[in-house]
Amino acid sequence: AHQAPSIPFDNSYARLPPQFLADQAPTPVAAPRLIKFNEALARELGLDVDALERNGAAIFSGNELLPGSQPIAMAYAGHQFGNFVPQLGDGRAILLGEVKDRNGRRRDIQLKGSGPTPFSRRGDGRAALGPVLREYVVSEAMHALGIPTTRALAAVTTGEPVYREEVLPGAIFTRVAASHIRVGTFQFFAARGDTDSLRTLADHVIARHYPEIRDRTNPYLALLEAVAERQAALIARWLHIGFIHGVMNTDNMTVSGETIDFGPCAFMDAYDPATVFSSIDRNGRYAYANQPAIGQWNLARLGETLIPLIDPSVDTAIDLANTIIKAYGERFQAYWLSGMRAKIGLANEEDGDLDLIQSLLATMQEQSADFTLAFRRLATLAADEDVTDFAATFQDPQSIAPWLQRWRERLGRDPRTAAARGQAMRKVNPAFIPRNHRIEQAIQAAVEDDDFSLFEALLKVLAKPYENQPAFAPYAEPPLPAERVLQTFC
Ligand code: AMP
Ligand code: MG
Ligand code: MG
Repeated sequence: AHQAPSIPFDNSYARLPPQFLADQAPTPVAAPRLIKFNEALARELGLDVDALERNGAAIFSGNELLPGSQPIAMAYAGHQFGNFVPQLGDGRAILLGEVKDRNGRRRDIQLKGSGPTPFSRRGDGRAALGPVLREYVVSEAMHALGIPTTRALAAVTTGEPVYREEVLPGAIFTRVAASHIRVGTFQFFAARGDTDSLRTLADHVIARHYPEIRDRTNPYLALLEAVAERQAALIARWLHIGFIHGVMNTDNMTVSGETIDFGPCAFMDAYDPATVFSSIDRNGRYAYANQPAIGQWNLARLGETLIPLIDPSVDTAIDLANTIIKAYGERFQAYWLSGMRAKIGLANEEDGDLDLIQSLLATMQEQSADFTLAFRRLATLAADEDVTDFAATFQDPQSIAPWLQRWRERLGRDPRTAAARGQAMRKVNPAFIPRNHRIEQAIQAAVEDDDFSLFEALLKVLAKPYENQPAFAPYAEPPLPAERVLQTFC
């Protein structure tokens, strides 16, 4: 018999009062097989890499529980597409426990697809291989792009079928997060009028994610402000790289500021602010350009839950919370503009910059320019005279000539050398993003032919999104018309 690897679990969420969670062990699966193990992340978490890898199929399927693990399902509520659901909760996820990583940060280790829980409602508690591979690829790509996100520690197949519109191979994803506490977790207690639990939750979140605000005169107002700050920064970063989350329900917005829940998410190819991929987002509520406003709407829902903690006078509390919700809009705009300046190579600021940026985006939209490719080629152009490659990303290459002239004039008033500018621009304009057609191809090969080579190739190229990787040049290209993915499903 093998020695079970020991993980130094310290499960602070499991120690919260019973109304926060349900004790729930994973349901064993028939024939688990380890598809992927993230060794670098395991090391970062301070885990016993060799023992985990040797026994990965059993551990990351939930068939074997590690000593010190206290498996639970977390309770939460949430607004789904604007409609409040007072009880959602982990319907197919089980938190194994928390560890302190090498940097002293507390991290959750959670299985997703590990069987039913008291919160499963009508669901089977399971996940299909395709969505597990998508979450693996996209969350790791987001991390490599420098965007706060939950991470992928492992993926296993279960050897069991799952029944969706068709019969699919089952899989389990192991997710690592700063925590899995959501706006919807606060809503769960607010909906029950349980102010004591709300305060316990808020104190837990402050201690865990925002210890610097503990001693503020109004820590609960400061909490709202801190979450708003992180979400403003996060959603601006999404827009900078063309990411569309797809299902920004309040239960899918973390209070830590990490991106979570990679269901119907997708990256934009041709630039269009109205882009929607999710098959269930029929009204475009979660379209690319709506994301900042939805972020604000979700933060208003968080603010509502905190009213009883912010001030004994409801009117005063509402005024204070409203000030923060309004300021989020300005914060988002500042983050967005500063990131867009960097994308077009500006190190200093002028009043006309916003107009210059909007004019580029408008032409990109009219001319169906590929968002990622156009900005990457603009980075090359910063240290090069030949406009051919950049202009070729526009349907009519001539259409961008007037803008290029304005841009060159503006660069004349910017302090950096062309070489330094080009280098800086390559660090914010990725060559490689997880393009939908590549993900679909990788999923199809895995599901239909048990071939994970495309999945592995994607992980490899996306680990260095800002580097020119000539061997992977085709991965930088937009889809051919026949390869274009128009809809994603969760
Ligand atoms: P999502 O749309 O992924 O944010 O999920 C919304 C809710 O549905 C969460 O409470 C999930 O736990 C739950 N859920 C999603 N899929 C399943 C499933 N197959 N079985 C049980 N619960 C599920
Ligand atoms: Mg979710
Ligand atoms: Mg989901």
